Amino acid sequence: MSRARRSAARTVVPDHRERVCRVFGESYDPEAWADWRWQLRHRLTRLDHLEAYLDLTDAERLGLSMGAERFAVSVTPHFAALMNPYDASCPIRRQVVPTADEFVVSTGDMEDPCGEDHASAVEGLVHRYPDRVLLLALDTCAAYCRYCTRSRLVSQGSLDPLPRRMDAILDYLRTHTEVRDVLLSGGDPLLMSEDRLDALLGSIRAIEHIEFVRIGSRVPSFLPQRITPALAAVLRRHRVWLSLHFSHPTELVPEVAAACDLLADAGIPLGSQTVLLRGINDDDVVLKQLFHGLLKLRVRPYYLYQADPVVGTAHLRTSIAKGIEIMGKLRGHTSGYAVPTYVVDAPGGGGKIPVQPETIVDRDGGTWQLKNWAGEVYSYIDPPEKG
Ligand code: SF4
Repeated sequence: MSRARRSAARTVVPDHRERVCRVFGESYDPEAWADWRWQLRHRLTRLDHLEAYLDLTDAERLGLSMGAERFAVSVTPHFAALMNPYDASCPIRRQVVPTADEFVVSTGDMEDPCGEDHASAVEGLVHRYPDRVLLLALDTCAAYCRYCTRSRLVSQGSLDPLPRRMDAILDYLRTHTEVRDVLLSGGDPLLMSEDRLDALLGSIRAIEHIEFVRIGSRVPSFLPQRITPALAAVLRRHRVWLSLHFSHPTELVPEVAAACDLLADAGIPLGSQTVLLRGINDDDVVLKQLFHGLLKLRVRPYYLYQADPVVGTAHLRTSIAKGIEIMGKLRGHTSGYAVPTYVVDAPGGGGKIPVQPETIVDRDGGTWQLKNWAGEVYSYIDPPEKG
């Protein structure tokens, strides 16, 4: 049985709310807990917070004392309450608590694996595909995933505030009439106030040639309390599609179901992206549980990502062969809607490449040559066996 499956089997949907609140000298109060601003104010961000809640291993202690300098640590109380305080292999905990493995740099690791900085048209606007752009709305998230492809940006305060960048972004969008699709990401755009998000979406929607606006967000998993009727109304008004991000079936708790219901009832199309993570979800049974759970919430599993080779994340990455093996156990073995497309975001900026016989040009051990939509070939190097 794989490590991911053993962890999933052991995890009896944990709930440690009282214990999380005690970190801040408070008692669990359901009303406060349901308030997303309270959740943000009570994020676990420091060694002493996590030490008060978890039985830390030496590797976690080292990761927390030194790793936060490279990439901030933050866990919402909601997500923290899903972590097993006594088991460092808990699939929820491994997503957000750093370990000393983050200091290991492996062959092929990159600071900016998707080449976004290189494709930046104006600050915070990445124009990589002919008709699509990525707008980095802000550089903060509710919590930080240790495998984040934008760890060089998010949590670092490296982006100017959006109001200062907005004129240049809108000018670019107005003059580039080939752009029909805008993806807002970051950072997490759903952390913006309703008014600011409404104004931003309104300015983009006012550009006639932009047909399709999407937001990428992990808020429904990290901070489902943020999904309020007022926020859903803004998203509905601007006919936004949402790309959510879930990693493990344990995340699909009642608050998350309520948030997805609110969004789906508002008519917002919901898709989900999942990153394949070693020891967390690299198992067909675990992923099937996740994808079936998402379908029940009216969320369509959309992409399964090969983890990007971000510096210091080899311990969380699998080989491409593992991803192919898992997809073989999903395709045809469950509803087609529950089977996402398995993609590699080509290191160096080649865009997303579906992993299939037509796109695999060559393989030499753990080095894969993959062909993108433009016929260009990019390499992906598997992590060391024991990252
Ligand atoms: S929510 Fe997205 S942008 Fe934020 S840390 Fe996680 S992967 Fe990175």
